[in-house]
Amino acid sequence: DIVPVRSAEGRGTATEAVLVGFADLTAQRRVEQMRVDFIANASHELRTPLASLSGFIETLQGPARNDAGARERFLKIMGEQARRMSRLIDDLLSLSRIEMNAHLRPETKVDVTAVLSHVRDALGPLGRERGVEIALEHPPQPVAVHGDRDELFRVFENLVENALKYGGAAGRVEIGIVREGSDVVISVRDYGPGIAPEHVPRLTERFYRVDTAHSREQGGTGLGLAIVKHIVARHRGRLGIESTPGEGSTFSVRLSACPADDTKTSTKS
Ligand code: ADP
Repeated sequence: DIVPVRSAEGRGTATEAVLVGFADLTAQRRVEQMRVDFIANASHELRTPLASLSGFIETLQGPARNDAGARERFLKIMGEQARRMSRLIDDLLSLSRIEMNAHLRPETKVDVTAVLSHVRDALGPLGRERGVEIALEHPPQPVAVHGDRDELFRVFENLVENALKYGGAAGRVEIGIVREGSDVVISVRDYGPGIAPEHVPRLTERFYRVDTAHSREQGGTGLGLAIVKHIVARHRGRLGIESTPGEGSTFSVRLSACPADDTKTSTKS
């Protein structure tokens, strides 16, 4: 089922033509394989908490029927499992919505500093709970980008939350906003254990985690960075990940800024 493809200008030899057909089909198969893997992974991720819920229901109906203490404990775990399923479904829906809109470039003018202050405020309580200070450094003038405010909030909420979850033990997370020429670079730095180099290129794959048990313990779905990657791509931005084991990680997002003289930004936060 290899279809020879003729090059657009009629140039190229027969061998080249066949190779192009090959490459297209391979790409097509890869996409198909990714789709199949994704459905298998998503089903597995949903099945795990579901199996645990079914197990607890059976135990509550049987052996633990008259054990008030066990009932209390089990119901608490069951609530956690139900919340995990619901987070997973929310993330799956977000991902498919973002992918569906991948070709539409969001055009609202968004004040980046306002979004990041909002993220810091929203995650302040989690930071305090873990004894982590979230510092924010930004230029004195507002910096705006064309984008979708809620999606950008989501990107940085995810990055800061990861910094707290995986790198928070060091007590400090730093958010930086820096103008670089016509771009703005937003970075989220932690001083945690860092990530071994072989994992770094795979972190944005759906359901990829360095340590699945630890991610689950932290309430992770394994979809956070995949969502981040898709939103950044939709904003024609670039996501950078730098990490040194034992020293910490920096996740950065480069976006093109609106011209500085244009001050009419959306300040709603
Ligand atoms: P999760 O829901 O597991 O947090 P993400 O897609 O957000 O999923 O992240 C994928 C994995 O990347 C995490 O499970 C974790 O292993 C790793 N990771 C993300 N951020 C950091 C960080 N700041 N420091 C160390 N590891 C990180």
